Amino acid sequence: MPTLSGHRVVVLDPGHDGGNAGHPSAINKLVPAGYGRYKACNTVGTETYAGYAEHAFNWDVAQRVRSILRAHGVTVVMTRNSDTGVGPCVNVRAEIGNEAHADAEVSIHGDGSLQGNGFHVIRADGDPGGPVIAGDSERLSVAVHSAMIAAGHSPATYSGDGDGYDVRSDLGGLNLSTQPSIMIECGNMRDPGDAATMSSASGRQDIAAAIASGILSYLD
Ligand SMILES: [Zn+2]
Repeated sequence: MPTLSGHRVVVLDPGHDGGNAGHPSAINKLVPAGYGRYKACNTVGTETYAGYAEHAFNWDVAQRVRSILRAHGVTVVMTRNSDTGVGPCVNVRAEIGNEAHADAEVSIHGDGSLQGNGFHVIRADGDPGGPVIAGDSERLSVAVHSAMIAAGHSPATYSGDGDGYDVRSDLGGLNLSTQPSIMIECGNMRDPGDAATMSSASGRQDIAAAIASGILSYLD
């Protein structure tokens, strides 16, 4: 992995939260989601058929990524500090990255598609932070995608063009970010193979190492 010079700030955004399911009125409240849209503050997320919750996966992977980045001298800001809280709302998650002047913000998720397997990286359609930031977000998406491929992970067969890249205009966290920002769906929790990887500590460490490697090569 590259050694970085200078002070770098990365915001890690573990999707959803463990307390969301018990607080429907709080998480269903509508918040600005960019481009004049309003969306629910937050959602519960998906889970494997065996009941391993996405919020727990996201939280665990984010902590592993944080450890690796810190070991490389990167300052890491998390959008939530436990897996038992409610939210924060998607607009607040974006604000945390903006206020931290993040060099990169990476939102970590697992998907719940009824078919297909593999990971994909998503960036905002349009350029909410301006064209330079949009270019940076694209480079960040390529860096993390390349690191996932290098670690042996397959691009998602079910989203976008099947190449592991997607561009969306409906994700508030990306739409409201004025910093280089991507989301990664690390795998499909409804696919038996992906679920096995995502449910194991070694699988999560492997995913986290790839995400961290991609972030570090982007920062370098
Ligand atoms: Zn999610």
